[in-house]
Amino acid sequence: MSLRPTVDFLLYDWLNVPDLQSRERFADHSRETFDAVLDTCERIAREKYAPFNRTVDIEEPKFDGEKVILPQATHDACRAYAESGMLSAAQDYDIGGMQLPYTVEAAANAFFAMASVSIGSGMLTTGNANLLMAHGTDLQKQVFALNEFNGRFSGTMCLSEPQAGSSLSDVATRAVPDGEGFESDPLGPRYRLRGNKMWISAGEHELTENIIHLVLAKIPDANGQLVPGVKGISLFIVPKKLVDTNGQLTGERNDVALAGLNHKCGWRGTTNTLLNFGEGKYPVRGEAGAVGYLVGQPGEGLKCMFHMMNEARIGVGMAATMLGMAGYYASLDYAKNRPQGRAMTTAGKNAASPQVRIIEHADIKRMLLAQKSYSEGALALALFCARLVDEQHTGAPEAANEARLLLEVLTPIAKSFPSEWCLEANSLAIQIHGGYGYTRDFPVEQYWRDNRLNMIHEGTHGIQAMDLLGRKVLMEEGQGLKLLAARMQATIAKASGEWQSEARQLADALQQVGAATQAAWQGAQPAEALANAVPYLQAFGHTVMAWIWLDVAQSAQGDASAHVGRRAAARYFFRYELPKIGAWLQVVSRRDSTCADVPEDAF
Ligand SMILES: Cc1cc2nc3c(=O)[nH]c(=O)nc-3n(C[C@H](O)[C@H](O)[C@H](O)COP(=O)(O)OP(=O)(O)OC[C@H]3O[C@@H](n4cnc5c(N)ncnc54)[C@H](O)[C@@H]3O)c2cc1C
Repeated sequence: MSLRPTVDFLLYDWLNVPDLQSRERFADHSRETFDAVLDTCERIAREKYAPFNRTVDIEEPKFDGEKVILPQATHDACRAYAESGMLSAAQDYDIGGMQLPYTVEAAANAFFAMASVSIGSGMLTTGNANLLMAHGTDLQKQVFALNEFNGRFSGTMCLSEPQAGSSLSDVATRAVPDGEGFESDPLGPRYRLRGNKMWISAGEHELTENIIHLVLAKIPDANGQLVPGVKGISLFIVPKKLVDTNGQLTGERNDVALAGLNHKCGWRGTTNTLLNFGEGKYPVRGEAGAVGYLVGQPGEGLKCMFHMMNEARIGVGMAATMLGMAGYYASLDYAKNRPQGRAMTTAGKNAASPQVRIIEHADIKRMLLAQKSYSEGALALALFCARLVDEQHTGAPEAANEARLLLEVLTPIAKSFPSEWCLEANSLAIQIHGGYGYTRDFPVEQYWRDNRLNMIHEGTHGIQAMDLLGRKVLMEEGQGLKLLAARMQATIAKASGEWQSEARQLADALQQVGAATQAAWQGAQPAEALANAVPYLQAFGHTVMAWIWLDVAQSAQGDASAHVGRRAAARYFFRYELPKIGAWLQVVSRRDSTCADVPEDAF
C-alpha cells in the first residue's frame, strides 16, 4: 500500500495545485517539478526513516553528562533531509530556496511523518527560521535563519515552564539588559536570561553545529517586577553556542544547560528536555545569565511566537494524520493476511470450510473504513489548509484576506481533529491486530504511543476548543465562520445526484453548528459558553470533515477501485460519524452545567 496515489489525487485532481503556476512566485514550477520533489522525499523517507522507526523508539536519547547521544540512524536521516533542500523548500531563490508552494512542501513532508514521526524532519527548525524571517532584523535573518535553512543550525521553541504550560501568561523567565550598550549589539538588543523551560523538544543534541532557542521571557519593569499577563512577554534568540555577526561560532558556550531528559510514552526519537537558562553552569564573560537577543518589540513576544505556533499546529495535525495513515496501512495489510473465523451464511457457519481472512468480516471493514475516513480525510484537510496558506501569501488581496480568515477558524480543527480521531484510528489498528497488536512485535502500538502526544502539545485539546469557540468563531464579527459556511454551501450546491442526501445532511449539520454557536453565547457568559467547548470542537470538526469528504467525493467519480474506496469512506463518515454531532451539540446549546457544577468533594 503506497501513500503516493492518495497524495497525487489530492494535489492534482482535487486541489488542482499546478494552477499555482500562474502566480509569479511559482512560475518556474509545474507538475514535473512537484513530482520530482515528491519522488525525492518519498525515497529518503523509505530509505533513511522508515527502517529506523523502531530503532529510535528502543534506543532512547541518553545524556552522558556532557552530550546527548542519539542513534546514528537519526544523524543520517537528518543529514539526508537537510541535503534534500527541504528545510528551505518554500524560501526565495536568492537565499537558496526552491520557491515551492507550501501545499507541495506539506505534502512532501507527509512522507517523513509517516515513515518516522519520531525522527522528525525539521518542523521546529523551519518554523523557528520562518518566524525570524517575519519578525527578525536583517542581521538576525542572515546569522540565524539562513543557517537554519541550510541545516548548519537547528531550532527550538521555548515557551513552557514547569509552572506555565497552558497558561503562558505565567511565564517567569526574566530577561534583563546586558550591561552598558546592550541596545546597540548588532545581533539585536542584548539581554541576560534566567529561568527554566520545560518540555523543550530537540533542546539538546549533537545533530547540528548549533541550536537556536527562541525563548519567551519577561523584562522586569523599573521596580524589578514582572508585568502580569501576556503583555509582559518578549521573545529572544538564545543560541546554545555564541556566534559572531558572520554566523561563525565564537568558541564560547552560552549559559544554557540541560537539566535533564524527559522519558516519554512515545515519540522517543526526538529529545525532550528541561533546560536551565542562566543558572551559571556556563558563565559568559565571567557572569551567569544566558545571552539573548530581542526579536521584535518588548511585550510582543507571544504575538511573534504565534507565527511559529500556527505553523506548528498545522504540522502537528499533519503528524497525527500520518500516524493514523501508517496504522491504517499496517492493519489493512494484516487484515488481508490473517485467516480467522468462517463466513456467516444463512445456514450458519460451516466448521469444515477453510477460515476466511479477517478483512472479509463486516466489523473489520468497519474499523478499516473508520481509519480511512479519519486519516485520508485529515490529510485532505491539512492540504486544503496548506493551499490556503499559499493563497494568503500569493493571492489577490481579497482572496488572501479570505484565506487568512478561513485559516483562523480551520487551524484549531486541522490540529485537533487528527489528534483525536487519528489516535482513535491507531487504537482501531491495534484492535484489528487482536492480541498481536498489543505486542511490540507489530508497529501499531508504537503509532498509538507516538500519536498520544498530539492532543497535549501545541495547545491541549481543551485549549484548542476554547480558542475555537471563545475566539475564532467570533473574531472580526464572525467573518471566518461565515466564509467557511459559504464554502460549505458551495460544495452542497454542486453535489451531484447520488450525493444529494449527504448534501442535505451537511446543510443540516451546518445549521446545527451555527445555532449552537449562538446558543452557547446567549447571555454572553464565557464560563457558561466555554464549559462545553470540547464537545463543540468535536461537532465542529466532524462537520468540517463531512464537508471535506463531500467535496473530495465529487472528484472521485468512476469505477477505479481507489475512487470506490474514497466514496465508501465518504459514505461511512456521513452515516456513522456525522450523526454524533447531535449528542455533542445538545450540551453546548443548553449550556449544560453538569460538569461545571459538580462539587470537587463529590469526586
Ligand atoms: C513531548 C512533549 C513535547 C513538547 N514540546 C514543547 C516544546 O518544544 N516547546 C514548548 O514550549 N512546549 C513543549 N511542550 C509543552 C506542551 O506544549 C505543554 O505540555 C502543554 O502546553 C500543556 O501544558 P502542561 O503540560 O503544563 O499542562 P497544563 O497546562 O497543566 O494542563 C493540564 C490539563 O489541564 C487543562 N487545562 C489547563 N488550563 C485550562 C483551562 N484554563 N481551562 C480548561 N482546562 C485547562 C489542559 O487542557 C490539560 O488537559 C511539549 C510537551 C510534551 C509532552
